[in-house]
Formats: sequence, structure tokens, C-alpha cells
Amino acid sequence: MINVTKTYLPNKERYKQYVDEIYANGWITNNGPMVRELEKRLAEYLGVKNIVLVANGTLALEIAYRTLDIKGFAITTPFSFVATTSSLVTNGILPIFTDIDSHTLNIDPKNIEKLITPNTSAIVPVHIFGNGCEVEVIEQIAKEHNLKVIYDAAHAFDVRFKGQSILNYGNISTLSFHATKLFHTIEGGALVINDDDLVEKARYLINFGIENPESIPHLGTNAKMNEFEAAMGLCMLDELESINQKRKEVYEIYQKELDSFVEFQKQNENSTKNYSYFPVMFENEKQLLKVQTALNKKEIFPRRYFYQSLDTLDYIEPKQICKISRDISKRILCLPIYPELENETQFRIIQIIKEVL
Ligand SMILES: *Cc1c(COP(=O)(O)O)cnc(C)c1O
Repeated sequence: MINVTKTYLPNKERYKQYVDEIYANGWITNNGPMVRELEKRLAEYLGVKNIVLVANGTLALEIAYRTLDIKGFAITTPFSFVATTSSLVTNGILPIFTDIDSHTLNIDPKNIEKLITPNTSAIVPVHIFGNGCEVEVIEQIAKEHNLKVIYDAAHAFDVRFKGQSILNYGNISTLSFHATKLFHTIEGGALVINDDDLVEKARYLINFGIENPESIPHLGTNAKMNEFEAAMGLCMLDELESINQKRKEVYEIYQKELDSFVEFQKQNENSTKNYSYFPVMFENEKQLLKVQTALNKKEIFPRRYFYQSLDTLDYIEPKQICKISRDISKRILCLPIYPELENETQFRIIQIIKEVL
């Protein structure tokens, strides 16, 4: 069975060494040495100032909103994984959806300004499939209207914009280190905090709001990463270069072979790729379903990322309509891409798609 992705498991001996270390010092959670080491190494690797590791990418978003005191409305994209929106709703913030650009699939900055009201306190864009948003335009809008910007950068691990980490834009960027993501810690996530004076607050919030054993000034939660997860991250970091090289090879084969058959996502020229997804757009949903059925018959399971468009979620009131996002979500499919995908399998996938089209 071939799925859209396959969790990468790093060298087992290396992981065992870390586990031995954890057993030796008996510290398994609560900001242990492995978590601290991973924070340090990730900050260096990514080229960012402050990293706070957390239990998952959804909690990273929630902690980001709470750290920045986001209230009222947040302008966000309807074309993303559901956690981008559900994390807002959970925190009592109303998502105001602004439609996407039909080619880049990111929030279209042209649509943001007309949605701003006195109740708006934030913009929550997503670098979808790792494609960098128009970060400079968004920054300008946020400045003019005194809004905070939180990037859901779950897909943008190690993406660079004009030579520096794209995570350095906005007030906070959040990452997901779930097993299906490019870089993973089994379950996990992180906040990249650009305002130095907010780091301490975020650290209290992930640990029940406790500042010291006798003072609990914040309303916090439990969002801590544990040592076994951090150890997995340390192992992944050691192998990232070769993982990325293999992903790049798979990506480039799809690109070359499918060029005249389907539409690709338009890349932001100022941002680098991380080869984490390979989305393709068909002419319509019917065509997509035909391809999907043909692949499924051969035990190949691409995923309809992202379906449904988030402006169609039942629990969002008032109802909003983003036409472009709804249209794209019906005709986009993410093809299998992971380091161990065999050449022969990939060409089989390509052949099936070509035959159907
Ligand atoms: C994976 C993902 C999340 C959620 O991260 P988890 O670690 O699974 O909680 C949030 N936003 C986007 C865009 C994602 O792809």
C-alpha cells in the first residue's frame, strides 16, 4: 500500500543511544535536557532567535494566540488543514476567511484590508505546502492596522525567504512536528517567537501558567514536549540533509513527467522549496475522482489536501463563502512523496495518471 506520505524513521541505534541517556538521567519530561538541546540545535539549523518546543502543532497555534492576547476576529485562509481554523474557534476567536490566490494557493493579500474591522486583532496566514506567503505585503498591512501576525508554518520547515528563514516574519510562526511532516518528533510542534519579551510568557503558558511554585499568574495549559520526542527530533536532524535530497529527486521527477498533464502550484520566487508535498490540480472534480479511483485500484492512496474548504465547516457562524478555495479544494490532490518512495513505484503512479488523462 502506497500512501501520500510515509513516516521517516531515523537510525534505530542512534535513537537507542538517546533512550539510554534518558534512562540514565531519569528525566523524561518537563523541559528536560533533550528538549533544551533540540531547541538550541533547531534555532541554529533554522536561523531563528527563539524556539519553544510544544506537544503538537495545534497547541503551538493555541499558545501563540494566547501569548499575543488575540481576541475578537482573526483574518485567515480557508485553504489549510482544519487545525488552523479550529485552534482559533477553541480560543473564542472568530475566523474571518479571506480567499486565496488560485495559483499560489496562499492567502491573497489584496483581499485582507477590506475585511479589517475594529474587532480584528490578527492575521493568521499559512505557507501552504511550504510555499511562502507574500510576507512583506502582509507585514505592511499588519503595521498600518496594528494587527498581530501569526503564521501557521506547519509546512514551512526550513523554507527561506530572500535568504533568511521565513519563520522570522510575523510576531510568531508555528511549526508541526507530527510524524507525517518533513521533520518530526513523533508528535510535536514549536513556536518561533520573534518578540524576545514574549518567550517567557509562552513558556509559562505551556506549563499550566505557572511562573514559580507559588505563583500562577497566567491561564495556561499543558503543552509540553517529552524527552523521547525530543530524542527523535535530534536523530531526524542528523539525517535531514539526505532526507531532503531524496525528496527533491521525487519532486523533480513528478514535475518533469506531469508538466503538460496537470496544473502545479505557482511558487513564490522569493521563497525556497522544501519538497514536502506534491499537489496537482485537475480541471475539475470529476477528473480528480477518476484519477483517484484508478490509483486506489492499485493500492495507491493520494490525499485530497485540503478538502473540505474551511469556510464550509458547519461550526463556523456566520456563514462565509470563499469561491476560489472551494473550487481548488474540489480538484486538488497530493501525490505520494517521501524519501523511500521507489523510482519504479513513482513511475507507476505517473503512468496511471497519464493514462486516465
Ligand atoms: C499538521 C498541521 C497542523 C497541526 O499540527 P499537529 O502537530 O498535527 O497538531 C496545523 N496546521 C497545518 C497547516 C498542518 O498541516
